[in-house]
Amino acid sequence: MFGDASMIRSAAKNPATTPVLTEILKQAVIKKREQVLDLLKDAAEKFPSITFANSFGAEDMVLTDIIMREKLSIEIFSLDTGRLPAETYTLMAEVERTYDSKLKVYFPQHEVVENYVQTKGINAFYESIDLRKACCHMRKVEPLKRALNGKQAWITGMRAEQASTRANLPVQEFDEGNQLEKFNPLSDWTEQEVWAYISLHEVPYNKLHDAFYPSIGCAPCTRSVAMGEDVRAGRWWWEDPTNKECGLHVKK
Ligand code: SF4
Repeated sequence: MFGDASMIRSAAKNPATTPVLTEILKQAVIKKREQVLDLLKDAAEKFPSITFANSFGAEDMVLTDIIMREKLSIEIFSLDTGRLPAETYTLMAEVERTYDSKLKVYFPQHEVVENYVQTKGINAFYESIDLRKACCHMRKVEPLKRALNGKQAWITGMRAEQASTRANLPVQEFDEGNQLEKFNPLSDWTEQEVWAYISLHEVPYNKLHDAFYPSIGCAPCTRSVAMGEDVRAGRWWWEDPTNKECGLHVKK
């Protein structure tokens, strides 16, 4: 019934992860990279205490690559929910090797997780939206708050076309919920441009993307999607599509 990312595999390879690199596409990506680099440099100068939330999706790997290659003065952190797919841990180790750098990872508070599991059940997030949101809160939102504590700004890899909830995503906004500036440098990038960048620069990426997982989160809450299906259709697929955010990017 459920699409555990660690259990489901597709035999065919997702063609989206290997786009045809036409000259027009290459030039578009080169231009957009320059724009992102300028934006990141400017943001790091204006907000010295800036951090990038890397969840190891394709978009986040583009930003990781730019920040690491250009040696920008931007901290990178990640959240380990304890329920990530094996492929994500493989990628995390590959990132450490590729950029010769150790990761900064935040974990949930173990007492809260232990209590949730003992009182609600190991997979209670399937039972109701409230229990799903409680799980996302203790495994993602609370650790994110700790990661952002004392920061002036943060950076995400979100794109406008990823979901109806992100349709009007600005490149820069004030994050009311977390009370700091927020940058979404890839807001206007297309999926094709993201993969063109990854291909051109040989950036490491999560191999679940090849198996039709466009958006990857925790293993029990992520499944593959059909060709042409919404990018976020594989996340919390049992819920209303207009409500599918984990709480990390919800406005107050
Ligand atoms: S995505 Fe699923 S497993 Fe991960 S924190 Fe949210 S409810 Fe829990």
